[in-house]
Amino acid sequence: MGGTFDPIHHGHLVAASEVASVFGLDEVVFVPTGQPWQKAKQEVSPAEHRYLMTVIATASNPRFSVSRVDVDRPGRTYTIDTLRELHALRPDADLFFITGADALAQILSWKDVDELWSLAHFVGVTRPGHELSNIGRDDISLMEIPAMAISSTDCRERVHAGHPVWYLVPDGVVQYIAKYGLYTPDVAAVESGV
Ligand code: ATP
Ligand code: MG
Repeated sequence: MGGTFDPIHHGHLVAASEVASVFGLDEVVFVPTGQPWQKAKQEVSPAEHRYLMTVIATASNPRFSVSRVDVDRPGRTYTIDTLRELHALRPDADLFFITGADALAQILSWKDVDELWSLAHFVGVTRPGHELSNIGRDDISLMEIPAMAISSTDCRERVHAGHPVWYLVPDGVVQYIAKYGLYTPDVAAVESGV
């Protein structure tokens, strides 16, 4: 499951858990992006923070792991490169790519889209506020999952405004955000002496 994970929240975790259960997956590998090409014009937190929050959020689940392939690859992150690299690392694995309805709707604009389908089986999951459709491909699986009206954008805005994100993100992620003053520019500036 790829994502910016800025921060990772319970919507991501429920999606991963449901798809793993329905498809009998051995493992879900969370892959935080390096520099997401769709978000080139907006501020994204440093990859190391996003990677560590993903590690914290997934640590308690033995079937969840986190990959650094995108964080460590220089330049912008494209899913085609992610899948090629994961395939090279695990040539015998059957890869599935889990994506929410909003991301699935954009997939036809992704780099080397024609090759994407041969590298992984795509699973689109429902997300409140977004229409889930198979974008004209019968080989994509669509799945209804428990509705979690949570987005990272909303979490960032809540922290910025001084509102709680308890129970929207895992407890350890709440504490990580507070510890490093993420999403509250003034605190971050004070602590780093800028
Ligand atoms: P942002 O608001 O910063 O874009 P986000 O909440 O959309 O953050 P991403 O990291 O962009 O999170 O999403 C990673 C993947 O998780 C995408 O495929 C997205 O569609 C999916 N996803 C995110 N939130 C949910 C949710 N609440 N329910 C189902 N899928 C979700
Ligand atoms: Mg998003």
